[in-house]
Amino acid sequence: MRGGLPLAEWREFERTDMALQFYDTMAREKREFTPADPSRVTMYVCGPTVYNYTHIGNARSAIVFDLLFRVLRHHYGEAHVAYARNITDIDDKIINASRETGEPIEAITKKFAKIYRAELATLNALPPTFEPAATGHLAEMIALVENLIAAGAAYEGEGHVLFAIEKFADYGKLSGVDQDEMIAGARVEVAPYKKNPADFVLWKPSKDDEPGWPSPWGRGRPGWHLECSVMIEKQLGKTIDIHGGGQDLRFPHHENEIAQSTCAHQGAPLARYWLHNGFLRMGSDKMSKSLGNVLLTHELLKQWPGEVLRWALLSAHYRQPLEWTEKLLEQSKRQLDRFYRMLEEIEFTEDGGDPPESLMLALNDDLNTPEAYAALHELRDIASQMDGEPRKNAIVKMRAAGRFMGFFYEKPETWFQGQTTDGPTADEIDALLVARADARKAKNFAKADKIRDDLAAQGIILEDGPDGATWRRE
Ligand code: AMP
Ligand code: ZN
Repeated sequence: MRGGLPLAEWREFERTDMALQFYDTMAREKREFTPADPSRVTMYVCGPTVYNYTHIGNARSAIVFDLLFRVLRHHYGEAHVAYARNITDIDDKIINASRETGEPIEAITKKFAKIYRAELATLNALPPTFEPAATGHLAEMIALVENLIAAGAAYEGEGHVLFAIEKFADYGKLSGVDQDEMIAGARVEVAPYKKNPADFVLWKPSKDDEPGWPSPWGRGRPGWHLECSVMIEKQLGKTIDIHGGGQDLRFPHHENEIAQSTCAHQGAPLARYWLHNGFLRMGSDKMSKSLGNVLLTHELLKQWPGEVLRWALLSAHYRQPLEWTEKLLEQSKRQLDRFYRMLEEIEFTEDGGDPPESLMLALNDDLNTPEAYAALHELRDIASQMDGEPRKNAIVKMRAAGRFMGFFYEKPETWFQGQTTDGPTADEIDALLVARADARKAKNFAKADKIRDDLAAQGIILEDGPDGATWRRE
């Protein structure tokens, strides 16, 4: 009992008392977060178009919103947060990739969706509650377009259906982009079937060699924006608590999602809070395929453990730009090494435990990851000044904080062994250790010493212990 309450109730009280607040792009300020229904908190994040390998800039959004998912689960309970991140598997970029490689569209999208999931798992991202794919929602997309035509917000022309932006008074409110800018916008095409050049495509016709589905407007396919509006409603409902994505999606993608959903749902807002992450940059430029300055996640994972990439991705506040450099990766690795050195002192368990309050205070405040890292360092400093059982307990607390953020998943010995592509692999070193033990048994000390010295020359340190030798990289 604490303060006259049974412990469980006290905890409930304590958790709800630690207010969450997020910067809402729509309100242009930080707002306290209160879900419409705390027993089902809903979040949607725009996922990738699966036509080739994704780059580390794409991973930033997935990791930022993975952290938010963790915070929400902590506050409302794991069973009470529904997180959907879609897979865009209908898109002209996919059609082009298929033309270029000769591979069927389905094979391309399946392959790269699988790779994307595997990469994010390596970065310790939790799987979302739902991962809807556009191809599973054609009937609903057609129904939404029909609904918009009936409401007078959309019109047909030459097999296309377009959304008439002047029918939605709040168009542009999220991004602050005005109509003149829209017309000038690079992605806007002037076309004879458009009444206003800024009107956007809901449905477009497919040529015979392009994927298409039968519709009241002929054989065709949906526009990208429509896919998200439909998947949000189907998986989560008409109005969701949080909609997230990269800041480049504010316009036109999110404006268009809002226009479609709001007009189809008699004015019900699409999302109650809008969160956008800043860009990952190379020098002063955004990392992007069109600039050709991308580093692919799967390439980086050949050189760095997933946790190092995750650490680097969360090192800046999510709304700030993040400059990606080799130095950032080296620093991230060194910081994690320092934590893992301490983790060697306690027994490994899979269990995380409750994160400490200092960490949650930082994360509750608009996911302040630099503050959260400061809290982690402080927990390590506290532990390092202790001895005996209190020291162990302090390290366990530090581990709980790190695990909550998606770090310290590895066994320390694995962390210090298996993480470089330079030099011998873990398997090769293990084999050499067996050879060395055999040599010692046979009293061939010259051979045993040579194995040790050769490994040392490659930065592999052997440590002899009562249960045989172990090794670590320098
Ligand atoms: P794209 O492949 O450009 O359509 O982007 C897919 C997702 O990654 C979107 O949510 C973008 O906002 C996000 N994204 C792309 N480039 C970056 C970047 N350099 N930094 C952060 N997010 C990015
Ligand atoms: Zn979207």
